[in-house]
Amino acid sequence: MHIVSDTAETAPAGSFYHALGDEVALFGHAAAERLPVLIKGPTGCGKTRFVQHMAERLERPLYTVACHDDLTAGDLVGRHLLGSEGTYWQDGPLTRAVREGGICYLDEIIEARKDTTVVLHPLADDRRVLPLDATGELIEAHPDFLLVVSYNPGYRNLMKGLKPSTRQRFVALSFGYPDAAAERQIVARESGIDAARAEQLVRLATDLRRLDGHDLEEAASTRLLVHAARLITRGVAPLAACRACLAEPLSDEPAALEALMDVVGAHLG
Ligand code: ADP
Repeated sequence: MHIVSDTAETAPAGSFYHALGDEVALFGHAAAERLPVLIKGPTGCGKTRFVQHMAERLERPLYTVACHDDLTAGDLVGRHLLGSEGTYWQDGPLTRAVREGGICYLDEIIEARKDTTVVLHPLADDRRVLPLDATGELIEAHPDFLLVVSYNPGYRNLMKGLKPSTRQRFVALSFGYPDAAAERQIVARESGIDAARAEQLVRLATDLRRLDGHDLEEAASTRLLVHAARLITRGVAPLAACRACLAEPLSDEPAALEALMDVVGAHLG
């Protein structure tokens, strides 16, 4: 994974978000109180879409960073660069959001090392400051700065990157896959597929998620359902679309793939 942006993203016009509970209101209150937000949930369940949607609603620029273990503090805060007139400082995505006001969204923060996320500690508590060691600056966060982090508790269940004392400063929202009615609407809206086919795919996903006894790290997500629906809408045969989107991305194990395709076959047969 890599840094998605170090300039503010323009969210896709009016990005659609189907609320799953009271998360829109809670996020709004957290933002008003300048409290950082932690979103936990499995991959592909709508965390990123939700943050995009909230950035639009609150009319704040969004800086997204996909975390990985090579991410350095410099990737977040910025670095000195060499130009024609010597070295100059360039703010990273976190610093820009802190300085100018905006949402800094650190996706999969659990992937980042502790020495990288240490810069977040004074930003996540009441101080709301960002010390820039390289320039000697101490930046007080803009009132519209909001720190948002997400992680997937499924495959590694501790937040290795954040101190418990810091973690406890976050307003934490727990996401899961949408319920069947919501997921049908999401799949139909995101792919243009007809309601009957959307319903069939959601039922299939519900059964796939129940499959256990195989070494599946992740279940079929809403994202994968949307992908399958998009291929079907383009004319790909449903079985082939489901193999490509709901089975192959989840495992390389022949036995697990067979078990997944058995469920697919039972629904599409
Ligand atoms: P995550 O960040 O949790 O990995 P995303 O936010 O990228 O997942 O969601 C993946 C896709 O699933 C989105 O691009 C969207 O098509 C769909 N999706 C999932 N949940 C929702 C939702 N509640 N409202 C609208 N779209 C959703």
